[in-house]
Amino acid sequence: MESQASNFIRNIVQEDVASGKYGGKVITRFPPEPNGYLHIGHAKSICLNFGLAAEFGGYCNLRFDDTNPSKEEQEYVDSIIEDVRWLGFDWGDGLYYASDYFEQMYEWAIQLIKMGKAYVCDLSAEEIREYRGTLTEPGKESPYRSRSVEENLNLFERMRNGEFPDGSKTLRAKIDMSSGNINMRDPVMYRIKHEYHHRTGNKWCIYPMYDYAHPLSDSIEGITHSICTMEYEDHRPLYDWFLEQLGIHHPQQIEFARLNLSHTVLSKRKLLRLVKEGYVNGWNDPRMPTITGMRRRGYTPEAIRNFCNRIGVAKRESLVDMALLEFCVREHLNKVAPRVMAVLHPLKVVITNYPEDQEEYLDAINNPEDPDAGTRKVPFSKVLYIERGDFMENPHKQFFRLAPGREVRLRYAYFIKCESVVKDRNGEIVELHCTYDPATRGGNAPDGRKVKATLHWVSAPHAIEAEVRLYDYLFVKENPNDVEEGKDFTDYINPKSLEILKSCYVEPSLKDAMPGDRFQFERIGYFCIDTVDSTPGKPIFNRIVSLKDEWAK
Ligand code: ATP
Ligand code: MG
Ligand code: MG
Repeated sequence: MESQASNFIRNIVQEDVASGKYGGKVITRFPPEPNGYLHIGHAKSICLNFGLAAEFGGYCNLRFDDTNPSKEEQEYVDSIIEDVRWLGFDWGDGLYYASDYFEQMYEWAIQLIKMGKAYVCDLSAEEIREYRGTLTEPGKESPYRSRSVEENLNLFERMRNGEFPDGSKTLRAKIDMSSGNINMRDPVMYRIKHEYHHRTGNKWCIYPMYDYAHPLSDSIEGITHSICTMEYEDHRPLYDWFLEQLGIHHPQQIEFARLNLSHTVLSKRKLLRLVKEGYVNGWNDPRMPTITGMRRRGYTPEAIRNFCNRIGVAKRESLVDMALLEFCVREHLNKVAPRVMAVLHPLKVVITNYPEDQEEYLDAINNPEDPDAGTRKVPFSKVLYIERGDFMENPHKQFFRLAPGREVRLRYAYFIKCESVVKDRNGEIVELHCTYDPATRGGNAPDGRKVKATLHWVSAPHAIEAEVRLYDYLFVKENPNDVEEGKDFTDYINPKSLEILKSCYVEPSLKDAMPGDRFQFERIGYFCIDTVDSTPGKPIFNRIVSLKDEWAK
């Protein structure tokens, strides 16, 4: 696998390894909450955590941060496992669930109560918020703060036993209501939720908060570097506080900036809305910035990893242009995708001087970037399809492709010349009548005459009919998170993000292509056979990404 570009976190880890901190070991983790599908932002964190572990001879755990049963589901657990694996990473036997630590966390909570560092509070969520104060105003102490250790132990046990309704009590850390850091003003450690958990079932009705569960989970697993996004920077003193109070293994938390990508949103909450409100066809819609969507679209794991490496790791947030991700995809596919010919907007061409029942097979290069990819045979016959856009009846000055009286090259085949245009009753062009020059077989004229364009084409009787789905950005606004007053991020959805072309034609070599196979359609772009809707008789292709430059105009 690719090695990581240098970044400030890698430097910290490198120094720690050199100085022998944590015995020179590097143990990281990727800790998703199973409340949605992974997106490209998660990929950044995955590449960073697994990448560091691999580079320094350590390992990286996959840990489900499943402490909030209301939003979590097995479906999400399964998808996350599939996505991390598809990205090319391996956690060995390091697959964990924070819920497996509930008992240990509970015992540590009891220890904190006994130390006088935690208490049961009867304030409602709203009261807790009010008492907490603001950045400029100190908080107010809860009237329950001075409960005795015995009372707290008794109440906490009864909370666990299910004696109290949701929201009636919490367990809070006793820290400092006048701290300049609001996270330190007696944060909630446990809340009551009489809810079924996808792993622990009905065993628990109290659930630990992220700020309490996370450092303990990291500690239990012996994590050395706990890498998270910037919004947890202000939570670090609390992370450290729990570990110091308990005197247990203390990983170092390091924060980095989240990935933001242009023309899309990277928040599970927003992505869930797109799915639930029907703006897209599920989490795996090829327009989604999810790993499953990108996989279905035809992006490769190599391209995504390369992208994550290129964007680097920093403290300051920025908006990365989607064009960079597309560049990485194009760069990889250029190396590996076989070239084929396909016509998306077909215009029929009849070669009037080509014998009626004849066909021949021409040699076509599979991949000019890969000499080992070889050649294939492409059939040619009297009736062909070319791209409608490659013909103009009244060409303007910059148009060098086919026009009445003009000669062009058909890729791998012959020069053809347009002799006449056939129209229907409405004046629509339905067919071109052309002649070919048999002496130009293979694409060059023995007399040295030149043509200004080379077109792709398919033989009509041999071609396979296909549906092609063209995707554009999901949002028209560069940063749809930046919502104007009175608007919603969904107001910026691109109404033309999907265009479906029902009658396209692809060359017959694609007859045995399988769902998930990727190709370059010459002069058009990269396409992937859809893994969900495609059927053997009628393939459906997703446009992965367009070609940056057309090689012949
Ligand atoms: P979301 O806001 O999309 O729900 P999250 O941070 O709540 O994201 P988690 O499941 O908790 O999602 O994320 C698992 C890991 O992935 C965390 O360490 C988190 O910091 C990281 N992560 C999530 N989103 C991004 C992002 N956009 N860029 C980089 N890392 C991210
Ligand atoms: Mg989270
Ligand atoms: Mg979240």
